[in-house]
Amino acid sequence: MKTYFIKTFGCQMNVSDSERIDGFLENNKYKPTSKIEEADLVVFNTCGVRQMAENRAYGQIHNLRKNNPNIKIVLTGCLSNRKDVRRRLQNKVDLFCEIKNFPSEITKLLQTYQLQTSFNNALDQYLKIKPNYTNHYSANIPIMTGCNNFCAYCVVPYARGRETSRSNKEIIAEIKSLIKDGYKSVTLLGQNVNSYNDGLIDFPKLLKKINAIPGKFWINFVSSHPKDMSSELIETIAQCKKVCELVHLPIQAGSDVVLEKMNRKYTAGHYLGLVKKIKSAFKKYKPESLFALTSDIIVGFPGETKRQFLESARLMEKVGYDMVYFGQFSPRPGTAAWNMKDNVSKIEKARREKYLNAILERTTLANNKKYLRKTLEVLIEKEKDGFYFGKTRTLKNVKFPAVKKNLVGKIIKAKIIQANIWNIEGEILP
Ligand code: SF4
Repeated sequence: MKTYFIKTFGCQMNVSDSERIDGFLENNKYKPTSKIEEADLVVFNTCGVRQMAENRAYGQIHNLRKNNPNIKIVLTGCLSNRKDVRRRLQNKVDLFCEIKNFPSEITKLLQTYQLQTSFNNALDQYLKIKPNYTNHYSANIPIMTGCNNFCAYCVVPYARGRETSRSNKEIIAEIKSLIKDGYKSVTLLGQNVNSYNDGLIDFPKLLKKINAIPGKFWINFVSSHPKDMSSELIETIAQCKKVCELVHLPIQAGSDVVLEKMNRKYTAGHYLGLVKKIKSAFKKYKPESLFALTSDIIVGFPGETKRQFLESARLMEKVGYDMVYFGQFSPRPGTAAWNMKDNVSKIEKARREKYLNAILERTTLANNKKYLRKTLEVLIEKEKDGFYFGKTRTLKNVKFPAVKKNLVGKIIKAKIIQANIWNIEGEILP
């Protein structure tokens, strides 16, 4: 039996795609191996967001090919369509393919090399592939893929093409089957889940349908675009009991001038209006619950002045985020920003990130202190060195002594006794 190894770079969406690639190969009589150098087939599911991830992929592909000329290498994900990447790796990679074409393209490749002749045609449509989920309690569910927004810095519209939504029936069927199997949490994935529309229902209606599935489980979703965050959606998130009290709403920059250059199609004022609506909706419908707001911010976008940068800092203070994922601007080939002058130095970008991180540490700690003495539900994810580690509904990391056995994958109640910057600590209630 031939063996395969999947190397995944980047975001949650790529992790979910790799679960489907894994399911596809295993269902077609390939066997996973944990040793990349021993595999007959290696799939690189790549990320083009940062140069560092790209360089790591190039290095590994180069070494694999050098040490094993017969290995078959497939490159999918964000880099698969880039002309410069294809030129650079033309003699090292056997197949470049977009993720949605993975089943049909890989079938052709492996038949050419007579590595496999009878793939199951029923699995031909990418989103219909049954994934090998990474664990037995929380699952990623892609609900749409691609993007129509063309933010100036982003490769996604080029790498994944335009938005396509998966049928709500398929999504509901997948979630029902997971809940039947004992899963406790589902995360709906898409580059812009707010614009989900399968021709029959939109995102608020999809959330309501999933919320109506019987059973005890949590619903999360990423990522949202502020221009598509409607009042109806905000009300739905706050009203649906199974939808967690967490909204990830990427702002990217606090300056309207920078936002316009980024082609984000909203202003900081509009964003702050949304934050106000989200906070008051949670207070209205879930007054007893804590809620969290998280975001993404890019520092050092071309032409970002110190004054414009400080507008990001001011916005962070106003919102009081629970988490922000920072990115130092790095020009990506093929995007609009590739042609802009990358005129903020590396040192200055690092300094700006550090400045914002100090604000985040303050707001996160202040928010975490609100958890003290509260009793909360926690989904336990792992046990290590006598402690359990898990997440609250707001995705706060929680640590507590493992005084009871076999709780990984279960939702338990814990009382919070300590608040730190990046986690909270507690004890399990009987
Ligand atoms: S909304 Fe913008 S940042 Fe998000 S995937 Fe689309 S182009 Fe990229």
